[in-house]
Amino acid sequence: MNALESLLNPNYLIITGYEQEVHCEHCGRHLKHGVRLADGRVVGADCFVKMVAPKYYKGKKVRTTASWIRDVAKVVQFVSPDNWARYGVNEDATKYIEL
Ligand SMILES: [Zn+2]
Repeated sequence: MNALESLLNPNYLIITGYEQEVHCEHCGRHLKHGVRLADGRVVGADCFVKMVAPKYYKGKKVRTTASWIRDVAKVVQFVSPDNWARYGVNEDATKYIEL
């Protein structure tokens, strides 16, 4: 699937948690920090960033950096949804279109 097809017929990658000391299911490397996805895969934040389409809000590109994805995964894992906003996280921040 190319990038345009992905955008027209999106498959979402949803961040559901954070894990330490993982084997990334994208690149196969052993990583200290892992992002758990709704489809059951665990991948590194750097790989996650490469796997998803850029996001825009009011015409501006939303930051999608590995450190932000790692933070989102930690918030999802350790903070109750009622308090996500304190960390700048909302449901939309957990959801990305897979390329
Ligand atoms: Zn990886």
